[in-house]
Amino acid sequence: METAKIVIIGAGIVGLAVAAQLSKNNESIYVFEKNKRWGQEISSRNSGVIHSGIHYPKDTLKAALSVKGNSMIYDICEKYKIPYKKLGKLTVAIGKEEIEELDHLMKMGESNGLEGLKFLDGDEVRKLEPNIKVEKALYSPSTGIIEPDDLMNHFYAQVINNQAIVATDTEVKSLKKTDYGYELSGISVGEKFKIQAKTVINCGGLYSDKIAEMVGLDIDKLGYRLHYCKGDYFRISGKPPVKMLVYPVPRGHGLGIHLTPDLSGSVKLGPNAYYVNKIDYTVESSLEEFRESIRRVLPAIDEYDIQIDSSGIRPKLEGPEDSFRDFVIKHEADKDLYGFINLIGIESPGLTAAPAIGNFVSEIYENELKK
Ligand SMILES: Cc1cc2nc3c(=O)[nH]c(=O)nc-3n(C[C@H](O)[C@H](O)[C@H](O)COP(=O)(O)OP(=O)(O)OC[C@H]3O[C@@H](n4cnc5c(N)ncnc54)[C@H](O)[C@@H]3O)c2cc1C
Repeated sequence: METAKIVIIGAGIVGLAVAAQLSKNNESIYVFEKNKRWGQEISSRNSGVIHSGIHYPKDTLKAALSVKGNSMIYDICEKYKIPYKKLGKLTVAIGKEEIEELDHLMKMGESNGLEGLKFLDGDEVRKLEPNIKVEKALYSPSTGIIEPDDLMNHFYAQVINNQAIVATDTEVKSLKKTDYGYELSGISVGEKFKIQAKTVINCGGLYSDKIAEMVGLDIDKLGYRLHYCKGDYFRISGKPPVKMLVYPVPRGHGLGIHLTPDLSGSVKLGPNAYYVNKIDYTVESSLEEFRESIRRVLPAIDEYDIQIDSSGIRPKLEGPEDSFRDFVIKHEADKDLYGFINLIGIESPGLTAAPAIGNFVSEIYENELKK
């Protein structure tokens, strides 16, 4: 049977970033991707925002890896001439409750080591963004935008340069522990395949809980079962109403319906957040829901022509009634699965964090697994 040192399941931004980092110093790495092309699921259905890290509690992986990933992405973009825009972000508030929430975000941002955060009053906001009418805003200078495909193409090119293999149209359907390490089997381009690997890294995104289950983990007992939380997008046609990223204070299960310019200057609205039972990317929300939400901060929204855009699904560890959960990035040696690394619940800020996740997983491998 064919053998590999490392098999990474899933070629989204996370699997590719992990493969790019590990393949610098290791040979015999395979990345298996069930779709015909890499990056067709969560990684190409998001806002493309390089987050600053204000939204996540101190000492969590989400905070640490997004702050680190943010500066790593800008360095990568500069070094490899990948287009990006460091637009800065306004988190905007109206009323006492939202203003208190801004104070909370400011404290969280500062405790995560962010620099340059500042409060702006309504007039200062209007000078920057004449269409936005709010009482107060928190400005974060390090937030930016990137085309997720450009970053994935970069990691993919690194993986290929480092002689690792990305096998698309290759779905892992079973996974078992053996004396060698792990035996994986499935279907590759219509044919059955089997391979043995010393190390398996689960970067399966929305399917990562199912992959953990395949290897025998009790995902309910461990709190690894994913909940799908969908977000729809609409897009403003014509002249963009804002130049910067404009977010409401977070409410509910996402960061709130925000205004996100892309690299062409066109502005996306969304995503909202609602739990669903299956993976289906049809846009289900009404345009009126979006207009109403945006009208609070951008009263002129009704003058704009708005079209349906797309949707994405968050792989959330917390259900609708649960509180914050962090990323799970863990070598499962304590569960008798030496050599098996799980990455589960890699929702936002997973795109921002991806290069830092690559380093984090590579450190786990070098320190605990490489012999
Ligand atoms: C609506 C939305 C907006 C977001 N906005 C942002 C943002 O602005 N900024 C930010 O930082 N983050 C954002 N995120 C989060 C970010 O997009 C994700 O954290 C990131 O893309 C996750 O990447 P991934 O590689 O883990 O998952 P994926 O891209 O889904 O990759 C996992 C891959 O594994 C493959 N796979 C699964 N099972 C198998 C199997 N058995 N065999 C072979 N292959 C398999 C899948 O086909 C898939 O390609 C957003 C997410 C959503 C949903």
